[in-house]
Amino acid sequence: MSQFDLVVIGGGPGGYEAAIRAAQLGYKVACIEKRIHKGKPALGGTCLNVGCIPSKALLDSSHRYEDTVQHLDDHGITTGEVKFDLSKMMSRKDKVVDQLTGGVAQLLKGNGIEWLQGTGKLLAGKKVEFTPFEGEVQVLEPKYVILATGSVPINIPSAPVDQDLIVDSTGALEFQEVPNRLGVIGAGVIGLELGSVWRRLGAEVVVFEAMDEFLPMADKALAKEYQKILTKQGMDIRIGAKVSGTEINGREVTVKYSQAGEEKTETFDKLIVCVGRRAYAEGLLADDSGIKLTERGLVDVNDWCATSVEGVYAIGDLVRGPMLAHKAMEEGVMAVERIHGHAAQVNYDTIISVIYTHPEAAWIGLTEQQAKDKGHEVKTGQFGFAVNGRALAAGEGAGFVKFVADAKTDRLLGMHVIGPAASDIIHQGMIALEFVSSVEDLQLMTFAHPTFSEVVHEAALAVDGRAIHAIQRKRK
Ligand SMILES: Cc1cc2nc3c(=O)[nH]c(=O)nc-3n(C[C@H](O)[C@H](O)[C@H](O)COP(=O)(O)OP(=O)(O)OC[C@H]3O[C@@H](n4cnc5c(N)ncnc54)[C@H](O)[C@@H]3O)c2cc1C
Repeated sequence: MSQFDLVVIGGGPGGYEAAIRAAQLGYKVACIEKRIHKGKPALGGTCLNVGCIPSKALLDSSHRYEDTVQHLDDHGITTGEVKFDLSKMMSRKDKVVDQLTGGVAQLLKGNGIEWLQGTGKLLAGKKVEFTPFEGEVQVLEPKYVILATGSVPINIPSAPVDQDLIVDSTGALEFQEVPNRLGVIGAGVIGLELGSVWRRLGAEVVVFEAMDEFLPMADKALAKEYQKILTKQGMDIRIGAKVSGTEINGREVTVKYSQAGEEKTETFDKLIVCVGRRAYAEGLLADDSGIKLTERGLVDVNDWCATSVEGVYAIGDLVRGPMLAHKAMEEGVMAVERIHGHAAQVNYDTIISVIYTHPEAAWIGLTEQQAKDKGHEVKTGQFGFAVNGRALAAGEGAGFVKFVADAKTDRLLGMHVIGPAASDIIHQGMIALEFVSSVEDLQLMTFAHPTFSEVVHEAALAVDGRAIHAIQRKRK
């Protein structure tokens, strides 16, 4: 086997983007990936195969169905009986996944990157042992290694996953029929998205959240509005509900939980366990590889994703920080740029969070509380979609944009959006934060009319009591 300058272990979004950037810079690159998806070797990691993409395909299909049933009539459009074919919906999702994973394979090939199908392990002295699906084990001696082996769902003993009645996020993307009653353990991003898919298709959904607060990582105003909207949609969210056990009887699963000091039970056709993910490094590191792990089992890295072994980097879900595909991708590119001697960096203060329900929720930077805790004198501005012309025309009047800013310097600190196209609108906040904008910068810009983004302008104006389409009591 030809020798490589760089070996990437893991072909998820972090790994494959790192491989492509390295190839662009002239390195001879191999990417080792061991995933078999639906019987075939597959690149793209969790994100393309069992994460971001299949979940968004089902979110889109189920939203179209619900919107047709509930809202087409509002526009004066009459249809016959609206039905859906779940197996066709699933095939469409699989086709989208195949198209994208196939695209990544083409990209690697086109960039001259060798996809080594099998398992990689880091040995002492930066060597890499490659065990192919077929054939002999080989030892590679690259100049650089990037570890990008991602994460897997966390299991809890009180609800052991059997991928039949009790499933994890991967199993929840493969139901063959819509459950009548669906339990979800964990009101995090993945639980809310998957719960929404099946609720829209007809399931009665109960979400158990052990913490005493809904979405504690989000701005309080956003979390409150979001919980209200999801509840109105029919999602039964039980906060402070700690699951202590499960029992399977025939084709039903009973969840035992405690809430407000009371022991309760609830029975479902299916139960999704979505309590988080953990870094995946099983079989990745030889005992003498020299790689330091953190107490939580993450690979220990510095700000540039360099590990304790010179020339070895680690990125994505395997290391500290939010477990998000875009964070993994940027770290992959940064690690390669660093290897090449460029002063690249990831701005961890501007990593966007999104929940792709309907409406979507998205945020960036500091919440109001975080800003106060950091000692800022805080000013905020909030403006709703309810009086935005474009939103009303589209029947999308729920939600708002909120800005958090420093009262003394006028500097923007955070943006929080719940509403139509929040996942796209939030990028205006990203650009503003990256360019260290003031609130005034946004106030002075001309936003096209009629657009959802006008709410961004109004929210910026509202920070100083100047929103035009609202009666503002505090004025400046
Ligand atoms: C249901 C769901 C929805 C999600 N939605 C979003 C979303 O909307 N937006 C978002 O940003 N993030 C989302 N995520 C999270 C996102 O998928 C991950 O953050 C992202 O995939 C992490 O990328 P990665 O490259 O670090 O690892 P991964 O994507 O996990 O890829 C790692 C790859 O390494 C391979 N591997 C592991 N060990 C070895 C080895 N020893 N040898 C060879 N190969 C190995 C694995 O097979 C895997 O394919 C979602 C996750 C889930 C589960």
